[in-house]
Amino acid sequence: MLISPAYFSSPGGEPPVLVAGGGPAGMHAALSLAGMGVPVLLAERSAHLGGQVMRLDKVYPTDHCAFCPVWTTAKACFESPRVNVLLRASVDGLRTDGDQTFADITAAQGWIDPQRCLFCGACAGSCPSGALHERDASMTWDPALPPSMRIDEAACTRCGKCAEACPAGAVRLGAEPVRLSVPVSDVVYATGFEEPAPGTPAHAPEFGGGSHPDIFTAMEFEAWHQESRGQDMLRRKSDGAPAKRVAFIQCAGARDARHLPYCAAVCCMHAMKQARWLKRRQPGLDITLFYTDLRAPGAGQEAYVRAGIAEGIRLMRSRPGLVAASEAQGGIAVRYDDPETGGAVGEIFDIAVVNGGLGQCPLPTGLGLPAAEGAAPLACGFCAEPADVAGSAVQGAAAAAAVAARRRSRAQGGNA
Ligand SMILES: Cc1cc2nc3c(=O)[nH]c(=O)nc-3n(C[C@H](O)[C@H](O)[C@H](O)COP(=O)(O)OP(=O)(O)OC[C@H]3O[C@@H](n4cnc5c(N)ncnc54)[C@H](O)[C@@H]3O)c2cc1C
Repeated sequence: MLISPAYFSSPGGEPPVLVAGGGPAGMHAALSLAGMGVPVLLAERSAHLGGQVMRLDKVYPTDHCAFCPVWTTAKACFESPRVNVLLRASVDGLRTDGDQTFADITAAQGWIDPQRCLFCGACAGSCPSGALHERDASMTWDPALPPSMRIDEAACTRCGKCAEACPAGAVRLGAEPVRLSVPVSDVVYATGFEEPAPGTPAHAPEFGGGSHPDIFTAMEFEAWHQESRGQDMLRRKSDGAPAKRVAFIQCAGARDARHLPYCAAVCCMHAMKQARWLKRRQPGLDITLFYTDLRAPGAGQEAYVRAGIAEGIRLMRSRPGLVAASEAQGGIAVRYDDPETGGAVGEIFDIAVVNGGLGQCPLPTGLGLPAAEGAAPLACGFCAEPADVAGSAVQGAAAAAAVAARRRSRAQGGNA
């Protein structure tokens, strides 16, 4: 059972508030609501809470570990008696029936029941296709559950040997997703952002994304080279050769009428963060950051950028017109206009990290839906306004305050 029926039948009470998206904004919205005594259904489409932050190594402007604060917040969500966390649950849309709003949610069921799994590994030993692993790569942090095995559903042939081998009956091969229609009193969207995939409208083709292994998006680079992973040096992905020159290219597809017409707010800072951790580890690396306007609001961020410049990161105020692999010169060619001479320049780098164009996650259908009167959905975090982790969390708390005020007003017979 995914959600206890009792959850929806608190006598005389309104149904829960749906928070769609379990990143920093959604988690803070949920905890703030819970703190005000409001029941919450927190639906997250991936297998873990934390959102995109879980893909980061460290966070600017402190350079602290990204994981620890997010984990603490996620744990508080799981432990709150007023927050019901649904993982692998995608909010597809909203609909109304009379005065009642319903959320349509598709909840995937893992093929191993974590409540039964003994983590003994018998299933992995029996699997002929190597589809069983000790831990979900994206981890499930319900502290109430012990670690469990996981099936890679794409690799599984459904031969059933694991189910035969499992002493606890935890394997439920081929369990289909469950479609839920859940009554909710209010809705907070916190669905975050997505990096533009090559070939999508938000992707600017002149920056070469997806055309060569040494042209990375920022998230791809974050996965390739992390300061805390202790890699000895930065290497090219194409051939493993040590990298000597790295270009960070800002506003690729952002502040661009053809793609994302606004600034994505966080790219200058996270590029500076990645550049600085490279410099800390390898002071000899030649790093150039191409920018349009370096956006670093607030005292901490300004100081952070200045420290990067003092450490030797070269800033070039120019938006390159072309980033592409150069077979002739063996690297990534970056063509740009030199701001001092006005002339076109071409330089070769080992690696180019292309930043920008972070589109807000498409909202599930129904955002504009009137819902019950005075209960139209609110959006917070990156899906409402590009913001860093702290800003997204604050937006989540603000959305919670607005929803709680509405519920109070409705309880008093008014319409907020
Ligand atoms: C490369 C990079 C580096 C960054 N580094 C930093 C940094 O160092 N410091 C900093 O402060 N900020 C940094 N940021 C910004 C930071 O990632 C965002 O501020 C933060 O993730 C926004 O939180 P959010 O909750 O709004 O969205 P997200 O983190 O995107 O979370 C949204 C969640 O909603 C879920 N979701 C989406 N659609 C649905 C649906 N229909 N149903 C259910 N769930 C759904 C998603 O799976 C996701 O888990 C960086 C961003 C990038 C791209």
